[in-house]
Amino acid sequence: MKRCGTVYLVGAGPGDPSLITLSGMRLLKRADVVIYDRLAPNALLSMCRTDAIKIDAGKSSDSGGNSQDAINAKLIEHAQRGSDVVRLKGGDPGVFGRASEEQAACLEHGVPCVIVPGISSCLAAPAAMGIATTQRGCSRSFTVLSARSSDGGGAETLDYAKLVRDETLIIMMGRKELAAICNGLIEAGADPSLPVACVERATMDQQRQCRGTLEDIAEIVEREGLQAPMVTIIGEVAATDDCTARFTKSPLLNMKVAVTGSQALCAKLAVALMARGADPIRCPMIRIEFSTTDPALELAVNAIDQFDWIAFSSANGVRGFFKRLIAAKLDSRTLSNCRIASVGVATSRELLKHGVRTDIQSEIETGAGLADAIIDTAGDSGQCILLPRSDKALATLPDRLESAGMNVTQVVAYLTVAIAPPTILVDQINTSADAILFASPSAVKCAGDAGLCLDDKLIVCIGETTAAACTHKHMKVHAVAKRATAESMVDTLEWLASLNATETGVGA
Ligand code: SAH
Repeated sequence: MKRCGTVYLVGAGPGDPSLITLSGMRLLKRADVVIYDRLAPNALLSMCRTDAIKIDAGKSSDSGGNSQDAINAKLIEHAQRGSDVVRLKGGDPGVFGRASEEQAACLEHGVPCVIVPGISSCLAAPAAMGIATTQRGCSRSFTVLSARSSDGGGAETLDYAKLVRDETLIIMMGRKELAAICNGLIEAGADPSLPVACVERATMDQQRQCRGTLEDIAEIVEREGLQAPMVTIIGEVAATDDCTARFTKSPLLNMKVAVTGSQALCAKLAVALMARGADPIRCPMIRIEFSTTDPALELAVNAIDQFDWIAFSSANGVRGFFKRLIAAKLDSRTLSNCRIASVGVATSRELLKHGVRTDIQSEIETGAGLADAIIDTAGDSGQCILLPRSDKALATLPDRLESAGMNVTQVVAYLTVAIAPPTILVDQINTSADAILFASPSAVKCAGDAGLCLDDKLIVCIGETTAAACTHKHMKVHAVAKRATAESMVDTLEWLASLNATETGVGA
């Protein structure tokens, strides 16, 4: 008889794909079947094996979708056929995640079932607003509650006499019930001026938040249009300003900065900005995909000996190239006869991760800079050079190399797919952002297409090529990062804001 598989109830974390545990990620990468929830981050699904069966088990109330029984049946069916199943759930499976029901159903049918915890939104949401859930002398406990009861009841089923005696309250599934809950607490004797913080889509690209008091928060949430999924934090701790804000002297303090680029880059920029007290608005405008089927890449990888040079003009180019190399059952040893050129520090770092040192790294981190660095070093014309790049890469690098007499082969190592930002985010940037960061010409194009009005915002670009794309779209670039890295972009914005702060008071 076939071995029975195991069901793993894996917590995917609150939304930012980097907030899954290492265990969760390992299981996800090797699972035969992945059954995922509506709240499980989409980006994590791209980590699954390409041949894994992926099943959407979103139980959104209006989809009439999968009932809990149907989901239980699927878990059991696949495991009994011998598959290891990851049941991927938003946050932690054990926090309003119906883990116990799925576990009981599995065990009843003799299917082993393991819970792998995740970071629940009840902890991530306060953290995402800079709020510590317990604070010495202020709150020594916190209560996490669902605004909805198991039989469909709402705010009227809560025990307010008990809740007013609790310290920090963290409310889940409470967007619709917010006004009723606040009233219930006030009627039970809570101080109407008690601080309240609400956060929608905590840690996700479109995180939004607001603060108020028991008395006015429902109205503020309504006015600002915050939607589910939302967590509400009630109690003295909710008054904490973003804690970095109290310590930082950065001119970026409280500055609203729109970050664009891939999801990974946006997350990196957002963290760097928050560390300096700024308020990032995450607006991914491109998605990187490695599902390229360029036959030229295949050919090049299998005949790598014919090249004297491989020139990488981005870290993603490195990732895409090595994915294909490994898929062709080769590894970095095949590159021993090629010299390696890199456009800059981030690309060289990525190469090192694959065990490859660069022979030359361009001082000026642009396509033209890379071309000049190669021409200076290579000397002789007629050398064969491979360029693993994006499908949207500009012609400067190959053109310059070709005019120096080099034999250039361009291959598509990854695809840059534009993401149109939702209108609500465009409006938010147009009305409230002080600055915007661009890390690629594709993101600039996307911003133009989306109708962003950037005339009154500080614009910082990762490099000259991106800056040129801005100028082409009639956007005024205020500064270009010294190095083509996320950190350098934030340093540059900080420098710019300090100039503006002394001159005009902006960003102070
Ligand atoms: N198991 C999940 C909770 C599922 S219940 C966890 O541990 O996070 C669904 C509720 O979780 C939503 O109504 C909302 O209150 C909350 N929620 C989940 N993810 C959220 C997020 N990223 N931001 C804000 N609230 C979130």
